[in-house]
Amino acid sequence: MNQSAQLDRRFVWHPFTQMRDWLKREPLVIAEGHGAVLRDVHGREYLDANASIWTNLHGHNHPKINAAIRRQLKKIAHSSALGFANEPASLLASRLISVANKSKGDAARPSQISNHKLGKVFFSDDGSTAMEVALKLAYEFTRRTRGKTARPKFLSLDGAYHGDTVGAVSAGHIDLFHKAYSGLLFKPDKVMSPYCYRCPFNRARPERADARDYRKCHFECVGLVEKKFAAQKRRGNPYAAFIFEPLMQGSAGMIPQPQTWLKQVSDIARHHGALLIADEVMTGFGRTTSHSAFRTPHLPLFACQQENVQPDFLCLAKGMTGGYLPMAATLTTQNIFDAFLGEYAEFKTFFHGHSFTGNQLGASAALASLEILQSPASARARKNLENVLRKELQSLWPLPHIGDIRQVGMIAGIELVRNWRTREPYELRERAGIRVCEAMAKRGVLTRPIGNVIVLMPPYCTTTAQMQKMIRALREAVAEVF
Ligand SMILES: *Cc1c(COP(=O)(O)O)cnc(C)c1O
Repeated sequence: MNQSAQLDRRFVWHPFTQMRDWLKREPLVIAEGHGAVLRDVHGREYLDANASIWTNLHGHNHPKINAAIRRQLKKIAHSSALGFANEPASLLASRLISVANKSKGDAARPSQISNHKLGKVFFSDDGSTAMEVALKLAYEFTRRTRGKTARPKFLSLDGAYHGDTVGAVSAGHIDLFHKAYSGLLFKPDKVMSPYCYRCPFNRARPERADARDYRKCHFECVGLVEKKFAAQKRRGNPYAAFIFEPLMQGSAGMIPQPQTWLKQVSDIARHHGALLIADEVMTGFGRTTSHSAFRTPHLPLFACQQENVQPDFLCLAKGMTGGYLPMAATLTTQNIFDAFLGEYAEFKTFFHGHSFTGNQLGASAALASLEILQSPASARARKNLENVLRKELQSLWPLPHIGDIRQVGMIAGIELVRNWRTREPYELRERAGIRVCEAMAKRGVLTRPIGNVIVLMPPYCTTTAQMQKMIRALREAVAEVF
């Protein structure tokens, strides 16, 4: 066995992994990556079909990002944001604010949007910390505006995942991750998310199409959101904030929202005076690409922008550095910022921060990544890749063990079922998703399932041929496993 594999087995504890299973076999040791291809220590090549757990945007070893990091490395790798500003982080903050405030019909911006213009950036390290920052700011902002005795309450979506630190776990609703720690967590309310394929309000019989396209309902899910807000108001403690992943919930199982859902529920939340916390850790930076309303050179980079929703907190991480380095940002409004201003002795300071806040190498990578994203060539490539993905996914419908295929931009979730006519799921213990992904790996395609959902989220540099190979591997793997 390769030496790194031996050392790993001896000393490393892997995330979200049953280590007993891990220790049964030789781990795959990644040695290199170029574009959408990963190479292991034995020289075997694999396609990175989930962009290294949703982080990589432009491919591995991108010359522009590599060069940006090298340039910065000659100056300094890191100095502290506690006490000092630095060049790349300040520039990055201004660029993030600029791209985050662009919206459909920029010229005639409804006041609803301009009132919540994002103006400040708080840097941190990863998606979880970006969420922690938003939660703490929203909590404290609410206490300062409603009175110190207020007990700010949050509302988030069923199945939500917002990270693994204690605050971020609290905001989520995945039992498997929650049960053990419930004693440690605060408790937000939850409301159903629009999971059309398994929605109790959807009266449509299963068809061989994305469930959003043939659903039969009256947006009862939106009605439930309104009900929640109204009930909480009657209790005399209106929700402080509504937390959501826009357009598609990732770790919940790639649950896509039908068109206008996002706009409708955020209007409800706004109407009830709640702050909006948008977790775009997965969906940010072009992952959800297009909408018919946008022409290619002006593709929005964030999911919220596609439905003209302007959050008070925009949480970014995974793809922010192009997937190179751990760095995150919580964007917020001047209004929130102002609530933390005061004389030193008033102690209104936001007492929060991490050692690597505003790291220069991360910021340099993020600046280079943004520049690539904003180039017309990248926008065209994304649009094209999205179309290729849409076309190729069609070839999976004939498989009886595929129940739903849902795509938002460059993200696809393929739900495996025992029987598509009844939507009968596999039990988690059957490891259906894991087995299919193992069979795909044998065919040179790497991804990780969420329960029974296979995720495809390729880097934007993926070629048509590579995309076809990913789908072929999935098709063959499903046929082999079932
Ligand atoms: C991955 C993810 C997080 C957590 O990010 P980490 O960098 O893993 O801490 C939070 N929210 C969403 C939507 C995510 O996909």
